[in-house]
Amino acid sequence: MSKFIYNFSEGNKDMRDLLGGKGANLAEMTHLGLPVPHGFTITTEACHAYQRTLTLSSDLLTQLDASITQLSQETGKQFDSHDNTLLISVRSGAAISMPGMMDTILNIGLNDQTVKALAQTTNNERFAYDSYRRLLAMFGNVVYGLDEAAFDQVLTDIKRKNGYASDLELTAEDLKQVVTEFKEIYQTSDKGKFPQDPKTQLLAAINAVFESWNNHRAQVYRKQNHISENLGTGVNVQEMVFGNAGENSGTGVAFTRNPATGEKALFGEYLLNAQGEDVVSGVRTPQDVGVLKTEMPALYDQLAETAEKLETHYQDMQDLEFTIEKGKMFLLQARDGKRTAYAAVKIAVDQVNEGLITKKQALLRIEPDAISTMLHPEFDKEALAAHQILTTGLPASPGAATGQVYFTAADAKQASEAGHPVVLLRQDTSPEDIDGMIVSQAIVTSRGGMTSHAAVVSRGMGATGVVGAHELNVDYRAKEAKVKQQIIHEGDWVSVNGTTGDLYLGQIKTTEVTVKGDLSVLLEWAKEYSRMGVYTNADTPKDFQKALDYDADGIGLTRTEHMFFKPERLVQMRRLILAEDAEGRKDPLAKLLQMQQGDFYELYKLAEHKEVTIRLLDPPLHEFLPHDEKEVAEVSEQTGISTSKIKERVSSLKELNPMLGHRGDRLAVTFPDIYEMQVQAIMTAALKLANEGLKVAPHIMIPLTDSKIEMAWVRELVVNQIDQATKAAGVTLDYTVGTMMEMPRACVTADQVAEESDFFSFGTNDLTQLTFGYSRDDVGSFMPEYIKKGLLPADPFQTVDTEGVGALMKIAIDKGRQTKPQLPIGVCGEVGGDPASIEFFEQIGVTYVSCSPYRVPVARLAAAQAHL
Ligand code: ADP
Ligand code: MG
Ligand code: MG
Repeated sequence: MSKFIYNFSEGNKDMRDLLGGKGANLAEMTHLGLPVPHGFTITTEACHAYQRTLTLSSDLLTQLDASITQLSQETGKQFDSHDNTLLISVRSGAAISMPGMMDTILNIGLNDQTVKALAQTTNNERFAYDSYRRLLAMFGNVVYGLDEAAFDQVLTDIKRKNGYASDLELTAEDLKQVVTEFKEIYQTSDKGKFPQDPKTQLLAAINAVFESWNNHRAQVYRKQNHISENLGTGVNVQEMVFGNAGENSGTGVAFTRNPATGEKALFGEYLLNAQGEDVVSGVRTPQDVGVLKTEMPALYDQLAETAEKLETHYQDMQDLEFTIEKGKMFLLQARDGKRTAYAAVKIAVDQVNEGLITKKQALLRIEPDAISTMLHPEFDKEALAAHQILTTGLPASPGAATGQVYFTAADAKQASEAGHPVVLLRQDTSPEDIDGMIVSQAIVTSRGGMTSHAAVVSRGMGATGVVGAHELNVDYRAKEAKVKQQIIHEGDWVSVNGTTGDLYLGQIKTTEVTVKGDLSVLLEWAKEYSRMGVYTNADTPKDFQKALDYDADGIGLTRTEHMFFKPERLVQMRRLILAEDAEGRKDPLAKLLQMQQGDFYELYKLAEHKEVTIRLLDPPLHEFLPHDEKEVAEVSEQTGISTSKIKERVSSLKELNPMLGHRGDRLAVTFPDIYEMQVQAIMTAALKLANEGLKVAPHIMIPLTDSKIEMAWVRELVVNQIDQATKAAGVTLDYTVGTMMEMPRACVTADQVAEESDFFSFGTNDLTQLTFGYSRDDVGSFMPEYIKKGLLPADPFQTVDTEGVGALMKIAIDKGRQTKPQLPIGVCGEVGGDPASIEFFEQIGVTYVSCSPYRVPVARLAAAQAHL
């Protein structure tokens, strides 16, 4: 016969899976000698057995009888006794805490007879009937599914009739009346009478708690928090203690530290003359636990001492439930307290300094993603509550932003220059919109997914981003957007919550969140305990500076094309592309060279001795060309080339699948002078700095490579330029030329490719796109359905697909290192900042990850956790 029941004296904190968190901790506190009312726990295994048969097994019933007998001995109380009646609570509790999701019933054992006995022995009729009416309401609701509102209504009516402000004013006579009316609710339902026999009440309650594992809200909660459906709940049966026994009784909750700020001080709330959920349910406004210090100083001291003892014992901040019965304190629950990211970091760092936990424990305790919420401003909670959500899209880039709506990049830029905070609202965005995006507080689109251009760029810039808000109907011509019946005009104020994806009309106040000392301390430790480096993807000195503030190890990816989309450069780029021949390309190339060397100079200078990896031009050329008549006319005016010539060139560059087309190093093969110009710009910048005393080593990265022979060709082109430059200057500089691994072919021939490469860097966006055959700009139409139907565990552009893409990466790394054992290997795609992916990269031997500046701290912590 398996053991289905453990007395509190038998269990301990490590038995969570079997006893549930609540049961395991009640047992642990019992062993610690804390005042825990007697009781026992029915195991989660009994719950599993119940789920299979939908009855309580005879084994369980036998053990239950024995446990009740033992409880009677421990307490000296008996069911149905007239001078010492046993009253108990039946409490749910799963291995992973699901606060408030399942059910608990208090005061079991009361009936029409024992309520009188209780009134007599305690000499407190009010208390006895208050307890009875609570049992009737909880039992009716939890066991019989009677509507909670019906019971509430009775209370409301009687209070209104008598003009009472709170439950406290209900007299014993009132409560007797309430009990009568509650029983009528039973009678008029199809469930029949309230069962008078305590044992019947107990069995029904246990059944109901097992059933509550499958109630709707528990299911939703588990889904949202990724808690397994198979855990099941334990059931705790415990002697009642009474916080509703008069003015020197009460009930409360306390945290050993402040769960919002992390401050080391007892934090909590309590109510006198109250029971159970009164504190959290808001029937009365509870008092700050600090008030207990003056009301009942000895009990406050006891609570504070207990808090300290428990925190030391569990080595983490605890959330406690306590009850005071006639001046005596009892503990009813302890668990690790939920807390904000900010509190989590402060508490972890403080606890290391207090010698309570090790640095490793501290690092493992913080959810890496939680850190990113600490780096963006937040909406003021009260202000937010006063506004209604207009519509919701995907939360692409966290943050809280308020600004005036503009529908084109140009309008946004103009408004920003005129001093307005701007929200760029579009169907979608493209690289051409970058000007407008840079100046925007938030970017909102009606189309696209989490890896759409708007999403990637907003994350990269740390701008708030909401994408794919399908309800928005954007009308560029009218310069307005419609949601349901609401119209947003140009210049209207909106507020955007990038953490939830919600959009609001009007200005909502934000509060600035700065990186506090504790976070930098934690990140320092993370660096100490990680193997992988954390670099940033940065195209501008501003982005790079942000990343350096977050202690990035260098730049893993500079996308040079972003530098070409500034208006004065776009003109030169267009002249370059539209030129007839090499001769015609000379002048625009010279101008671009001038501008690019300045960019690289700035980045190198900021980097000092940190590595900066620059990727040569990657996107298809037609992205730089005009797309409609108006733009063609503009370009014609700027370049002096006839509109018909332009149109001809545009159509000759048009491709059916541009992302699989004439881009990356394929451009170098057809237009070598572009890459030559870029390498010259890099070298001019590097040599200038060498002259100023800062010796930088250029790291140059070739995109889209698919074979050794192709890489060899491009490498020679690059190295020639480097050699020419250093020779002319009479200086030697270290440099490396590496391959972006983003073509499956390059991965499976990586041993050969490595012969021509000084490093690899995985471009996981393209590699994922090509491995799945998903066009990453179009996945929005089916990916959500795949995830919903469980055909994909997660968006592979967000979290690396370890089985497919990951396997290719592993092949590439293993083969690459067969050729060069020390080959440095980076990851610079979106997943470089994703904690789950980082854990995988640690396993396959990646040297460093690179991600947007705002993800650097997240990646740093994830890298440490992966290594610990
Ligand atoms: P939850 O898991 O939703 O927190 P609990 O089982 O902790 O539910 O019960 C809710 C509240 O009921 C407790 O916080 C406590 O105030 C009260 N309670 C439960 N058992 C007892 C008991 N034996 N004596 C007094 N109060 C109890
Ligand atoms: Mg509780
Ligand atoms: Mg790529």
